[in-house]
Formats: sequence, structure tokens, C-alpha cells
Amino acid sequence: MTTYIDIGINLTNKQFYNDIDNIIQDAVKANVSKMIITGTSIKNSEQSALIATKHPDTLYTTAGIHPHEAKNFDNQSISKLKELLLQPQVVAVGECGLDFDRDFSPRNIQESCYEAQLALAIETQKPLFLHERAAFSRFISITNQYLPELPKAVVHCFTGTLQEAKIYLDNGFYLGFTGAISDTWRFQHLKEVLQYIPLNKIMIETDAPFMLPKNVTKNLLKKQHERRCEPAFLPFIAETIAHFKGITIDKVAEHTTLNSKTFFGI
Ligand SMILES: [Zn+2]
Repeated sequence: MTTYIDIGINLTNKQFYNDIDNIIQDAVKANVSKMIITGTSIKNSEQSALIATKHPDTLYTTAGIHPHEAKNFDNQSISKLKELLLQPQVVAVGECGLDFDRDFSPRNIQESCYEAQLALAIETQKPLFLHERAAFSRFISITNQYLPELPKAVVHCFTGTLQEAKIYLDNGFYLGFTGAISDTWRFQHLKEVLQYIPLNKIMIETDAPFMLPKNVTKNLLKKQHERRCEPAFLPFIAETIAHFKGITIDKVAEHTTLNSKTFFGI
């Protein structure tokens, strides 16, 4: 049977308030058999890890501090993340990285927070879930200092250029794609990017409740939440990739599921 793994959902977002069990049930019905909740702060990583314990073998989490949250990074943060990473459902360090698009945290703080998490991934040998927005050259120069010792890494929600994708692939990184790829007006260039990237380097994620794919069948959208993305919509992302690459959706599912299973050890 064709199954999918969603490597990035934001289940603690208030758009899912009181709705988590339904969301997971709908996803499983849509053959999304496993989902990884993205940890974005200490508090959020702790909440996410707790939610995941209630859905063993279906929900997993990352533990990390998003660059937007870097301003709250302190000398307790790393030991708290380390403690979380001892739990079996917590499978990766992140999301972490740099976001110079919105600059919600000062850039020098973002950088030190990111470096501390790179060191944490090396110490714990857990894979990395990376975030980079409008910060490519700085991101690469920091990451490359750690590269020889770095465990496996995925750059999630990739929307960059083909040249940037090539550099990430040269570093051995995986790339995660969201519903952004179906926005062929805003992200037209991603078609060429996806045609270039080999299937064994691609993972898929909804980034729910954000990034609603444009090709979702309209009757699947819920009345009160017409703009809300859900993990159940993950197959629509696979469909777009299949279309770009001229292959079957089953082939996309087969490869991305295998990549995610191996990468996260789930
Ligand atoms: Zn992100």
C-alpha cells in the first residue's frame, strides 16, 4: 500500500486547538502513516513531545529553537533540548537555522543559537531539521564549519534557487518540499529544481496549518478552516512532484517514505 510520511507539521498551532485527534485520524485515512511535529521553541518542543507520546508509531517530534525564537535562547536551553532528545519519539534536532527575511531575532543571536544546535546534533548524533530563509550565504558559511562532523541534515520547506539546491546536495543534505511547489506563479522556479533533484534526496511535508497546496480538492477543505493546511493533504504535494518529474505518484510516495524512514530512524 502507498503510504506517506509528513516530516513537518505544527500541531501545537492554535488553528488545531481541540482538533488534534481529528487531524491525525484524517491524515491516517489519507495514508499519511507517520508525521513529525516541528519543535520551534523549548516550550513548544516539550508540548510536542508530550502529544507524540499519545500517538506512538504515528507521531514523532523534533526538538529545537527556530531562529524567530533565538532571542529566548539562554544557558539552560541546550540542556533542556538534550533531555528531550533522550525520549524515543524525539527524532531530530531542530528546527534551527537562520531567518533574515523577518529578523524576529537579532542576527548575531540567531547565529549563536544555530551554532549551539549544530554542536548539539554532533554530540547527540541526531539528524538535523534545518530552516533557512533569505540567509543562504551566511547559513552555508556557518554550517560548513561543522560539516565534517555533522550528522544527516534536511533543509525543510526549500524554496531557493537551483544553484542553492545544488550546493545543499553537494553537502549531502536532503531537501524538504511543501505545498509552496504548487504555487506555480510565485515559485515557478521550483519545477526545474525538482526536476533536477534525485528522488533519493527528496522528503515531503505539509508545514500544516501553513502552506496550503493549491491543488487540494476543494471539497476536502473544512468549512471553518478553508485556508488551513492539514497533514491529510500531503499526497497533493507528492502529486505535484510526480507531475513535474513525469513519474507516478506511487513512485514519489515510495521514495520519499523510504528516505524519511531511514533519515529519522522511524
Ligand atoms: Zn521553518
